[in-house]
Amino acid sequence: MEDNLAEENRKLEFHLLEADEVYRIRMYGDPVLHEKALPIEAITEEEHQIAKKMLATMYSNPIGIGLAATQVGILKRLIVIDIDRDDPDNAPIVLINPEILEHEGESVIEEGCLSIPELKAEVKRPEKVIVSARTLDDEEIVIEDGSLLSRVLQHEIDHLNGVLFIDHLSRKKQKRLKAKLRQIRQEYAEIPA
Ligand SMILES: [Zn+2]
Repeated sequence: MEDNLAEENRKLEFHLLEADEVYRIRMYGDPVLHEKALPIEAITEEEHQIAKKMLATMYSNPIGIGLAATQVGILKRLIVIDIDRDDPDNAPIVLINPEILEHEGESVIEEGCLSIPELKAEVKRPEKVIVSARTLDDEEIVIEDGSLLSRVLQHEIDHLNGVLFIDHLSRKKQKRLKAKLRQIRQEYAEIPA
């Protein structure tokens, strides 16, 4: 356990060194979370810098396994994921313009979101997805997955379309979460710097 923690800190330290600083994660109540991100036409130094800073931001949060650019107020179609963040040998993935080509099946899994702290809910989504994207090296990749990665991909791609996981819940469930959401909105409301 301690070893794992040390390894994890090394990963965070590495990415913090790479990025110098982290982004402020936009919280529920921030209108940017409902905006649709635009496709990235060309992968430039700017995209590399954004990705580095997003990785550092994700690792800075002890439970972060995925982050979409929308969540840091950048309306570009870019996501970062590391579903094995505790494994020092597992490299994170950075996807540009990710797109779900196909989906299959159905599964119900509990989700949470760095932008909606302390709230978890079971969400029904397709079990398996085929996603196409470009890497930071401007290569096309296709990911086919039916496990946790599939779930995180769908959650993060949703963010790029201005959709939050709570938007998938039934009206009844949303109603039940209303007070909690109002509380989060107030607690994390923009504090002027
Ligand atoms: Zn999220």
